[in-house]
Amino acid sequence: MQESGAHVWAWDDNPACRSQALALGVPLVDLHEADLGAVAALVLAPGIPHTFPEPNPVATRAREAGVEIIGDIELLARSEHDATWIGFTGTNGKSTTTSLIAHILKLTGRPVAVGGNLGTAVLTLPAMGATGTYVLELSSYQLEQTFAAPFAVAVMLNITPDHLDRHGGMDGYIRAKTLIFEQKPVVTPRQPMTAVIGLDDEPSRKIFRALELRDDIAVIPVSVEHKAAGGVYTKHGVLIDDTESKAVEIIDLKRVPALPGRHNWQNACAAYAAARAVGAHPDLIARSISSFPGLAHRQQRVGQLETMIFVNDSKATNADAAGKALACYHDIYWILGGKPKDGGLEGLEPLLGRIRHAFLIGAASESFATWLEGKVQYTRCGTLDVAVRKAGEMALAEHRPGACVLLSPACASFDQFTDFEARGSAFAAHVAEFIGKTSA
Ligand code: ADP
Repeated sequence: MQESGAHVWAWDDNPACRSQALALGVPLVDLHEADLGAVAALVLAPGIPHTFPEPNPVATRAREAGVEIIGDIELLARSEHDATWIGFTGTNGKSTTTSLIAHILKLTGRPVAVGGNLGTAVLTLPAMGATGTYVLELSSYQLEQTFAAPFAVAVMLNITPDHLDRHGGMDGYIRAKTLIFEQKPVVTPRQPMTAVIGLDDEPSRKIFRALELRDDIAVIPVSVEHKAAGGVYTKHGVLIDDTESKAVEIIDLKRVPALPGRHNWQNACAAYAAARAVGAHPDLIARSISSFPGLAHRQQRVGQLETMIFVNDSKATNADAAGKALACYHDIYWILGGKPKDGGLEGLEPLLGRIRHAFLIGAASESFATWLEGKVQYTRCGTLDVAVRKAGEMALAEHRPGACVLLSPACASFDQFTDFEARGSAFAAHVAEFIGKTSA
């Protein structure tokens, strides 16, 4: 911001962060006290509440002073409006879909910058100019602070309840997500926006019906549950492109190991539709989907021993996400536990027949043991290294073809690890050690 000539005042309520900022030469001004009358805009980090559950006092002061509240993506939108913009939102699957479209577009030879809610903060991405493409993952928090993003393609994957405290309930959450389709770019974009929208939940279907009435945009529906006329859908796992008034089979997603499960088919269909909307060729997209390496910690295959596989799904921090992974495998030696979430393992009952044995770790061990009692046999392991060893040994001894040692914890990691990435990396290291010892 300073490099672009803006006069910057910065503040962080955390003294340690302020010290770091000072060391970097960032000019600090206490925004709880400063006169905000001459301020052009308050650029708020997305994690800071400005409405629900309680607005941060600085946001309240800015509103009272008539200062607009924006986010970093809005700043990028106002300066990089000539680039091609592709934005993704949804409750689940954003990171996978964002990475997949970036992978596809890179293989087309386009200059692509990827960031937002995933990985790199947008203001540290390179200036792309008219020939470049931004592929951005957007959370509901970020969308509330973005107004002029010139999306060539805006994608909404799905909506299920999440972050409701920050949005004052489900209606507020849906409203925030819908903002992806309601941007007002500062310069008229070269092509009208294409809206790609999943049809597999009721809130998204409602938004689709409203989008269909608009004549300023093109709409591509996506479904893995039903045929989506004029859109992209799957039939028995085969991705079908019906966007050009003829249903064409593109790729059998069941053969793509990095995208297991129906939920990933939804991600693949959305990425396909977005890539088509910016002109990528169907054959090239199909080849790129096949070569997608997948994202770390999301049903990532990290080892194989005879016919048995080891899968790292550390990102599954709640029962819903763990259920997505359980539905993809059979003869599962399931490692789970950590810092428990509300609802525990509720909803996973129909999947328990797939599990040979559960291996419990972390703070949730006792509550999970109680829930599993009489349903699935389990062993309390305490820590992840013990769980990997016990699960691996049992799977080897039982010798079931295609068995899966699966870390899909249905819990946050913070009781034993710094984050889900550290937990997933530790799992991969324990698996490598186990395989090394067993094969020696
Ligand atoms: P996000 O970035 O939205 O959190 P990710 O791509 O990181 O999503 O996936 C996180 C978890 O969400 C995955 O491990 C999987 O369990 C689940 N998931 C992924 N894609 C979908 C989808 N399309 N629908 C429902 N759940 C999904």
